[in-house]
Amino acid sequence: MREELVQERIDQLVKSYETEIENISDYIFNHPELGAEEYKSSKFIVDLLEKHDFRIQYPYLGIDTSFRAEFGDEFGPTIAFLAEYDALPGYGEKKEPAHACGHNWIAATTVGTGIILSKMKEEFKGKIVVMGTPAEETIGSKVDLVNKGAFKDIDAVFQMHLYEENNLRAKALAMDSWEFEFIGKASHAAAYPFDGINALDSVNLTFAGISALRQQLKQDVRIHGIITKGGEAPNIIPDHCSCKFYVRAQKRKYLDIVSEKVKNCARGAALMTGAKLEIKKFENSFDDLVVNKTLLEIARKNLEKVGFENFSQRDEIPGSTDVGNVSYAAPTMYGNIGIADGIAKVHEEEFLGYANSKEAKEKISMVVKAFSYSVLELFNSKELMDKVKEEFEQHRIY
Ligand SMILES: [Zn+2]
Ligand SMILES: [Zn+2]
Repeated sequence: MREELVQERIDQLVKSYETEIENISDYIFNHPELGAEEYKSSKFIVDLLEKHDFRIQYPYLGIDTSFRAEFGDEFGPTIAFLAEYDALPGYGEKKEPAHACGHNWIAATTVGTGIILSKMKEEFKGKIVVMGTPAEETIGSKVDLVNKGAFKDIDAVFQMHLYEENNLRAKALAMDSWEFEFIGKASHAAAYPFDGINALDSVNLTFAGISALRQQLKQDVRIHGIITKGGEAPNIIPDHCSCKFYVRAQKRKYLDIVSEKVKNCARGAALMTGAKLEIKKFENSFDDLVVNKTLLEIARKNLEKVGFENFSQRDEIPGSTDVGNVSYAAPTMYGNIGIADGIAKVHEEEFLGYANSKEAKEKISMVVKAFSYSVLELFNSKELMDKVKEEFEQHRIY
């Protein structure tokens, strides 16, 4: 079929499945569940995809609320859409979980695209995968999915997020989380201080070491820490103290170097006081986000075609996300779609009024169309797929 006809067909399909796709957003928005507890949300999506003849693995790779749903064959590329559906804690008078990050919208756009493409199978050889990726806000289960090989056979990944503006310059910092635990020796702080080994001194010296280190680091590095255990009483030499740090940098490669230096500060502090040191990662490590330029340009063209405009030139203020790890495991398209003219930002109470609004739903349909156009283009151009792959290999080396 010619490209215009294919796109016309997609538009018709999106119209006929619009209510069903909007229901995904409604259901998840109205059943907010915290990370790793998204039993209702994941089951709702799995049941729906099963109805549309997807082959299901649920739970997936030992993660209870993760799933993998496939449609298609082995005779072409495999393209994945990542659904998120975890809510944030503490909104409203009762401080309840709520979808203040709009993950209901992410689920509807990615599952919706899967459903639409499953009705277009005569137009492509290959496979579409809808993957359920829980707990983005907390443990970041995409990291575990990457480590367990979920993306080994995936040639491209698509996901977008609701945001305060249209922005295709998404960035995220690589991040490690370090916990330093110092074991010293307790003694009476006035009578026998010389018998003690002061674990709190080790913590303080770690902070001092890191403060000195900052001057020697590149500008993009962020190190922020807290003391999690600082002793029991002033008249006891503290024997068990600990601190936690997030260490971030623009690139994983440099972060590995910085993390080693930070650990050396703790090692040095232990040597100075004589305390024993244990080093642990207390959360998953995130890689920086590298959006595949070829995928981004195809998506940009089609997002514009369905009516999105005014893409911001502002560099997004970077946090860290588990999509970063995905972007090192498979070529990834990720970006932001603006809502409410930037009045409300994600994680704000006010954003709840927009995350499942009429405007949000209109934009679900638009994104589903743009994703579907883009993916069919990719399925039908070996040249484009090769370019995507080549660029991906390049950024992995760097
Ligand atoms: Zn969030
Ligand atoms: Zn989010």
